[in-house]
Amino acid sequence: MKGELKKKKVKTIRVDLDKCNGCRACELGCSAFHAEPKYSSANPARSRIRVVMDLLNDEYVPIRSTDYTKAGCDGRRVYSIRGKEYSQCSFCGSVCPTRDLFKEPDSGLPLVCDSCGDDPPQNLPLCVQMCAADALTYEEREEEVEEEPRMEEIETGLKSMVDRHGLQKVIDTFARMAKKG
Ligand code: SF4
Ligand code: SF4
Repeated sequence: MKGELKKKKVKTIRVDLDKCNGCRACELGCSAFHAEPKYSSANPARSRIRVVMDLLNDEYVPIRSTDYTKAGCDGRRVYSIRGKEYSQCSFCGSVCPTRDLFKEPDSGLPLVCDSCGDDPPQNLPLCVQMCAADALTYEEREEEVEEEPRMEEIETGLKSMVDRHGLQKVIDTFARMAKKG
């Protein structure tokens, strides 16, 4: 069944690898913006953007988390860009079991980039605001897309909880919460 065509704002953050110097200010900005309460702490482990680094080869790749995946891939591809070699994982934003990126340190739940949401609305995402080297640039454009119900964020969190604790435990927890009202 086809959905209605709607105009949608598409937000993109462009990365210039040549400009990134590995300062990690983007990680601090993102984690502070998403802290509870806002700006109460800055912990890169809670950031939804991480800088994958290879200091020996002077390689810094800021990647934003995209989605949760239950299984890792083989990750064996190597990309050669202007004389430097990068592993496949350097460009991957998946929250996957083979590495520790993009997992909330206390709960293990996935941390997925929400483009900084609207609470409060920002002219620029925090990671872009923090990047003094202009390695990150923000772009916004309108596209016509077929509208579908989007439950992605809820599903991501639920899948992760089920993987971690088992379906029955999650069901029992929801039943308990429902009883409490
Ligand atoms: S703030 Fe900019 S220069 Fe610094 S690590 Fe992040 S993307 Fe790179
Ligand atoms: S856009 Fe916002 S949520 Fe996404 S990585 Fe940048 S600071 Fe974090």
